[in-house]
Amino acid sequence: MHRIRPSSLSSYLHCPRRYAEVAINKLPSWGSFQTVRGTGVHAGAESIWTEAIAKDSKAFNLSTAQDAARDKVKKTLESEDIRFDKDDFTQTPDSLIDDTVSGVKSYVSLADSIEIPQMVEKFLSFDIGDDFEIAGTVDFIAKDGTISDIKTSSKKSTPQQHIAQLGVYRRLAQLNGIESPSKSFGIQNIAFTSKAVTGYLLEAKHDMNMVSYLVDQIKTRTQLVLQNELEIDLYFPTNPSSYLCAEKYCPFWAQCDAVKGRR
Ligand code: SF4
Repeated sequence: MHRIRPSSLSSYLHCPRRYAEVAINKLPSWGSFQTVRGTGVHAGAESIWTEAIAKDSKAFNLSTAQDAARDKVKKTLESEDIRFDKDDFTQTPDSLIDDTVSGVKSYVSLADSIEIPQMVEKFLSFDIGDDFEIAGTVDFIAKDGTISDIKTSSKKSTPQQHIAQLGVYRRLAQLNGIESPSKSFGIQNIAFTSKAVTGYLLEAKHDMNMVSYLVDQIKTRTQLVLQNELEIDLYFPTNPSSYLCAEKYCPFWAQCDAVKGRR
């Protein structure tokens, strides 16, 4: 079964070839200081909401949430390929844990303004035929079905950047029998700037036409490449202009003809 992950759609939009090398050719990718920090904040958020749902009360336990985040960071560092930026001397395991714990504190403050959801960290999948499925974990489904995602970033997030991912989550929820009538989605953003860690609640409108177009395009192009791998450059073009086109982000960097002159 070939899986299309909503969280990988932004990778496809940034550089289709990079997406294909990871999703189809299974080129191993790696995590970074920022991705592990995000994973830790998610663990803290899951901890408070799981308890709030069980007790129907928002008596958040910050230290329990921070412990959950700390544990998650440590386990991720032990079990996954995580590469810190060698040019940034502030990136150490200790600073990663400190940052994550601050991020959880900021998230818990933000959560005071958020209603208790119906579910969090819910894995959903749907078979779209021809040996393809869409599958991913939805961070937060409100009682009215509105889908939100927790995003950590180095500056205030732009919710429109996440239209594809959040739209697929909405469709996945609907296909799994979860009512999601809201025309908008939410981003629960924790921004780590050099001055402060700040939480924002952001909102944007869904674009479900874009979702259909993207899923269909990725499925069709993947099928074509699975039939003839030599056609990968036709259906998944490179985009060396992407700001994520860099050795530290792209596992295909060493082989990619589009960046030959930059290596
Ligand atoms: S090196 Fe750049 S252009 Fe080539 S696949 Fe990676 S991100 Fe795309």
